[in-house]
Amino acid sequence: MKEATKLGFGSLCAKEIKPSVNVPPHILPIYATSSFAFESIDQGIAIFTGKEKGHVYARYGNPTLDAVAEKITRMETSGLDVEAEAIVCSSGMSAIHTLALSLLKPGDKILTQANLYGGTTELFQKVFGALQIEPVFCRLKDLEQVESHLRGDSAIRLIYFETPANPTLECVDIEAIAGLGRQYGVKTMADNTFMTPYFQRPFQFGVDFIIHSTTKFINGHGNCIAGIMLGRDVEFMRTKVWTTMKLSGTNGNPFDAWLVYNGMKTLHVRMDRHQQNATALAEFLDRHPKVERVNYLSLPGHPDHQLALKQMTGFGAMLSFELKDGLAGGSRFMNAVKMGTLAPTLGDIDTLILHPATMSHLNIPREVRLANGITDGLIRVSVGIEDIEDLIADFGQALDV
Ligand SMILES: *Cc1c(COP(=O)(O)O)cnc(C)c1O
Repeated sequence: MKEATKLGFGSLCAKEIKPSVNVPPHILPIYATSSFAFESIDQGIAIFTGKEKGHVYARYGNPTLDAVAEKITRMETSGLDVEAEAIVCSSGMSAIHTLALSLLKPGDKILTQANLYGGTTELFQKVFGALQIEPVFCRLKDLEQVESHLRGDSAIRLIYFETPANPTLECVDIEAIAGLGRQYGVKTMADNTFMTPYFQRPFQFGVDFIIHSTTKFINGHGNCIAGIMLGRDVEFMRTKVWTTMKLSGTNGNPFDAWLVYNGMKTLHVRMDRHQQNATALAEFLDRHPKVERVNYLSLPGHPDHQLALKQMTGFGAMLSFELKDGLAGGSRFMNAVKMGTLAPTLGDIDTLILHPATMSHLNIPREVRLANGITDGLIRVSVGIEDIEDLIADFGQALDV
């Protein structure tokens, strides 16, 4: 190769510059590169054969994604006698899909609950259903029902659950479900999106796998879609799951991972404030004459208050409440509220509200919606970190319209 100064102009344009970095950057860079350049043939062989650790091609792994995986692994395991491995995916859905696909084969079944995140229900029914991997829905709160399914159907290979779950914040006893899974040789997987590891760590209670939509609280700023999957069987994660991820191309991308990484630095501060505001707002709504019922786990009247105290260290940001006026009341409130953005997501730093009957569940038959606790006057709130006085004043004026 000619010396750089003797190269033609076109070659100068095309040549990659290797900056010299004597002092490492304080903040994680975005590694916007599709591949990694080997120093020598020998290094290439060593990395390709797994003798040496190293990056190859960004679909297989990337340092920005590795940093997110390491941070969340620490958050989910620190202080526990648990080892785990995490892989960042392009979305929460791709994390669920990649992990479940790594575990299941045609003929297997997934035991799960009817009040899952809507996308997950559809994934199990439509995508996994087409692969002859069927979901079996049951009330996971009812441990006798769970056990009778496990005893009666050896095709069940995975128990998949969310706790707390939409819209009533119903909880599942993580320790009991993980115990039943172990007893019957069935893997357990928890979606920990609502609580984050700051308030709930399912590994502590013995689950095998955790997934997160990091799109929500973990990022917190609503500026990317990303997900992550974690497993206690490190070898399985590094072989089967990693292979499924890299061959399906469900990997996360470095820019989104970097946004998630930034968000994670303030997770504890945000979650504390989310919870403080949610508690105060729940208490305000609970006393309001136009409100029939409030679903928030700090309230001693919530049926899962005691279970929440057992397995969570906080109550999170999600609440829902029922207006006495039904559909008309719900629409009036939604049109009058100013501080809650009508957006179909949750976990951002600002308050987000949803009226399922006229928004997310508009096309679902009323009976089906009611059977899942989504009544006409139900409003779901992802309580933000604004000043609580402003939130209460605004919700108050919208209720009084
Ligand atoms: C949003 C969400 C998902 C799906 O995550 P995406 O990042 O949108 O793919 C899964 N589970 C729960 C509980 C969610 O809120």
